[in-house]
Amino acid sequence: MARIGVLALQGDFREHIGALRRLGAEAHPVRLPQDLERVDGVIIPGGESTVMGKLMVAYALDQPLRERIQAGLPTWGTCAGLILLARATDNALLGQPLLAAMDIRVCRNAFGAQRESFETDLRVPALGDQPYHAVFIRAPSVDEVGTGVEVLARLESGHIVAVRQGPLLGTAFHPEVTGDLRFHAYFLGITQGAHAAAH
Ligand code: GLN
Repeated sequence: MARIGVLALQGDFREHIGALRRLGAEAHPVRLPQDLERVDGVIIPGGESTVMGKLMVAYALDQPLRERIQAGLPTWGTCAGLILLARATDNALLGQPLLAAMDIRVCRNAFGAQRESFETDLRVPALGDQPYHAVFIRAPSVDEVGTGVEVLARLESGHIVAVRQGPLLGTAFHPEVTGDLRFHAYFLGITQGAHAAAH
């Protein structure tokens, strides 16, 4: 069974750890660089990307995380985590630390005051026919994807809200709050594939 680290500096890491454990996976909070050593995959949760980025630097996690991701560590960013993974952010705060790993451009808080938080059913073919009920909380949208990036889901408006680039997964919404564990199972599948290939 793969071991998954959940970045536990800020945001809703507890919900991710709970979801992974319900699926029978080993899940551990990551707060220090050494917590990264024995993980087969990492989740960067939702929260506030500016705060989480600063804390990553304060805890000396940003560089080791960048290096592991560059070396192929399966990593899933949800909401703020997706912003941290993006190569480019339209409206990052000046000096906001980013991991810049996925070939995507995102827009923070893309859905404006009216629809800052909303829920909707998404069609996600990678998860099967059953729609995926998605919760968006001051979510980003993905405005541009590179050629190696697969679009997993869009809103009816056309906004891209779930992407995959090899072992990297990004969702603009919060799969850890709904009880539908299919995205967590999908990520475990990615980590188990990478784990089996490496051992
Ligand atoms: N708007 C937040 C940010 O910019 C993300 C919100 C979330 O993770 N729910 O980081």
